[in-house]
Amino acid sequence: MSRKILVTSALPYANGAIHLGHLVEYIQTDIWVRSQKMAGNECWYVCADDTHGTPIMLRAEKEGITPEQLIARVHGEHARDFAGFLVGFDNYYSTHSDETRDCANDIYRKLRAAGLIETRTIEQYYDPVKQLFLPDRFIKGECPKCHAKDQYGDNCEACGAAYAPTDLIEPYSAVSGAKPELRSSEHYFFKLSDPRCEAFLRRYTGRDNGVLQSEAANKMQEWLGAPGENKLTDWDISRDAPYFGFEIPDAPGKYFYVWLDAPIGYMGSFKNLCAKQGLDFDEYFRPDSTTELYHFIGKDILYFHALFWPAELAHAGFRTPTRIFAHGFLTVDGAKMSKSRGTFITAESYLNTGLNPEWLRYYYAAKLSASMEDIDLNLEDFCARVNSDLVGKYVNIASRSAGFISKRFNGQLAPADAELPAIKAIQEAAGRIVELYEAREYGKAVREIMALTDGANQYVDSVKPWELAKQPGREVELHAACSNALNLFRLLTVLLKPILPVVAAKVEQFMNLAPLAWADAGTLLAAGHAINAYEHLMTRVDPKLIDKLVEANKESLAPAAETAAVDSKKAAKTEKPAAPKEAAPAADGLCTIDDFMKVDLRIARIANAEHVEGADKLVRLTLDVGDDQTRNVFAGIKAAYDPAQLVGRLTVMVANLAPRKMKFGLSEGMVLAASNVDGKTPGIYLLSPDSGAVPGMRVK
Ligand SMILES: [Zn+2]
Repeated sequence: MSRKILVTSALPYANGAIHLGHLVEYIQTDIWVRSQKMAGNECWYVCADDTHGTPIMLRAEKEGITPEQLIARVHGEHARDFAGFLVGFDNYYSTHSDETRDCANDIYRKLRAAGLIETRTIEQYYDPVKQLFLPDRFIKGECPKCHAKDQYGDNCEACGAAYAPTDLIEPYSAVSGAKPELRSSEHYFFKLSDPRCEAFLRRYTGRDNGVLQSEAANKMQEWLGAPGENKLTDWDISRDAPYFGFEIPDAPGKYFYVWLDAPIGYMGSFKNLCAKQGLDFDEYFRPDSTTELYHFIGKDILYFHALFWPAELAHAGFRTPTRIFAHGFLTVDGAKMSKSRGTFITAESYLNTGLNPEWLRYYYAAKLSASMEDIDLNLEDFCARVNSDLVGKYVNIASRSAGFISKRFNGQLAPADAELPAIKAIQEAAGRIVELYEAREYGKAVREIMALTDGANQYVDSVKPWELAKQPGREVELHAACSNALNLFRLLTVLLKPILPVVAAKVEQFMNLAPLAWADAGTLLAAGHAINAYEHLMTRVDPKLIDKLVEANKESLAPAAETAAVDSKKAAKTEKPAAPKEAAPAADGLCTIDDFMKVDLRIARIANAEHVEGADKLVRLTLDVGDDQTRNVFAGIKAAYDPAQLVGRLTVMVANLAPRKMKFGLSEGMVLAASNVDGKTPGIYLLSPDSGAVPGMRVK
């Protein structure tokens, strides 16, 4: 009997671009879902943008748009990027929806009726200028331990100390720069420490229950404390207006904290899908449901998914997740993704550089396991592995045999040899490989599939169709050899299909096959089966593309842009203030110290200056910015300066200006010059530092 399964990936936060770190999870989930669908199970994959919270509200304000406009734009970008990487959601929705609001209100009311909601008055920093209670990450000040300046309200990036925002010396609001005031406010709490929640969670997260990976179950035991020692703390689920989110029922001016409605967004998205597909929502969410529910998440959000979420569901009369699958983070070339090294790679830039999404899907699959360990994208290994495995081994089988079938045998296959060892090996391994997919042991599955691919190539090498083709009278052998090879290729395509959906679709087209499913691994093509002309399936990775990709993602000379917890979803939404690329003026026309510090001003030496052919105003400057680095900048100063007189002098440049493509080339910054705002007094005056300054020094 086929299973009924609902699968989710964590909801990406709607204030930033999808990057290769995010894609680990979506590709991992998508492969699993595709495998379930190939097994004939009814499997639904839903996700949504996570759209609420202070960072979204402030970012929209900075961009001069409404939060609704911001989340609509980001939804489009996210949906585009996921489609680009062949992530096949059955529904990609938004938490800012009626369905999510209804589910959130329903769960809240049921928890309140169960006596699990409580109000308490707490003291919190308040920004008197912005008239806003400040999340920890929007308060900055001097570290109480090491006295580093400009540290966040929850921990110090210089010495690593953790503390409360009230411990900061000379705190200021990162939003307005104002000195925050302590104010009290009534907050709503979910009583996670209630004995009912504790008892439920001990049972639910226990190692024997099998919901969590053993590493995760161990972590939960730490968080719960030893039996008799309840370490759970109640969870603050409300935020004060102004806040972009859902207002709490019967609590005007109080909003659900973004983390309360985020997992409820899974339900909201599924409810929306149910309406579209005519599915029964209750069948999947009632407490005695026989359907399965799986959440794929990053290990940083286990607390939310393994404690809060199941405790809420269990006490609001819903089913709880069948399993929660946590994965590790992505490193690139062995290190945290980094903007200055160009390894903070966005999904969009990967696709725009012309790299094939299935290369990355295959590489991730080869690295993924069921554990919570981090995985590394080694860019050199990426090229080598894709080229050797996919192009050199797998695609090669078809490209060496299909042409002969088309040209010499009218596109028709001879019967396959069911006793051929290479064919038998694949058919025997298929069941085991399906189980490896189910167990999320993709790396092991890929290793087995590649060993079988080696076996198929050994067969082709032993029969040498290209030599048979040259020898008259050996048509029958040639026909058999190529037919066996194409049967081998079809079987290997079945095994790789969850990872390579586009290649599999092309193979189905060229070999004239119905959509391949797991059951097809047990069959062979009938004699006389007609194939279509072979079309190229996949090209090799050109290492030059990788260099281009890294270059496109490089933001040099901007240490402030180095993002610490970039792959952490928790950080994206609860901690750092949004940092839009273009700094729009604050509503009151003032610029905060934070706004100003975003502009990376540096001393630069004009190493070369020349006229630009066809430009009336521009001079092309080559700027020495220290550390043996140079920048190409087009400056509109031709009216005031002869290029020759500029060479050698020092000036000030904006080093972190987004590069701009101009008619004459790429401009990688801007030099600062004075001119009269009224335009009446002529003249342009390039800035110069006092003597002693050297290229690369920061100006602030
Ligand atoms: Zn410190």
